[in-house]
Amino acid sequence: MPVRIIANCVSKLYYIPYFVVGFTHWHGIGDVMLIDLQKFLSDDKDSIEIEVNTDLKTFSDGFSDYEVLSFPKMTLKLSKAGDKRLACSGKGVITLSVPCDRCLKPVESTFDLDIDEKINFSEDANEDENAVEKDYIDGYCLNIDELINIEILISKPVKTLCKEDCKGLCPVCGTDLNVRECGCDRSSPDPRMSVFKDILNNFKEV
Ligand SMILES: [Zn+2]
Ligand SMILES: [Zn+2]
Repeated sequence: MPVRIIANCVSKLYYIPYFVVGFTHWHGIGDVMLIDLQKFLSDDKDSIEIEVNTDLKTFSDGFSDYEVLSFPKMTLKLSKAGDKRLACSGKGVITLSVPCDRCLKPVESTFDLDIDEKINFSEDANEDENAVEKDYIDGYCLNIDELINIEILISKPVKTLCKEDCKGLCPVCGTDLNVRECGCDRSSPDPRMSVFKDILNNFKEV
């Protein structure tokens, strides 16, 4: 049986308590949550499991913030895969509140997180691998927050609609066309609404 350790990923606003479980350190330095893997790499254990209890309230993709409606705990498994190499895997599910791409109405968007990463600490790791890994690897430490964030970013559906045939908002007056037809001439949008159009474009009409 692999050793299980508990990792509490909470909002970065909160102080993270110091955990030392078994041979693996789980600690918070300021607002960064790291698991020190150096000892695991050199001992005789084949794998460890990390139970990630998340209290993530919002997810940011760098452009927008999304409310996290549900993020049940998930388990990450770290297995040795050769000299200074690890495989990191885990499955989870998350529900975010995401605005409809067309009408901006909040939509409950549930999607799977399927982490399957190879981590190479050896000196022969090529530059490409390092470039991919450096975001959630800091020295011999695994940054759980960053790993989860990247996974949400990768897994979040590109397209979110409240319904397949959502009619969206009128680009001239902003009326929700699912509710009523406003009668605007939409072939030549009012230039005064250009700010509104920019907001719409940010949500990438699909
Ligand atoms: Zn919609
Ligand atoms: Zn209109």
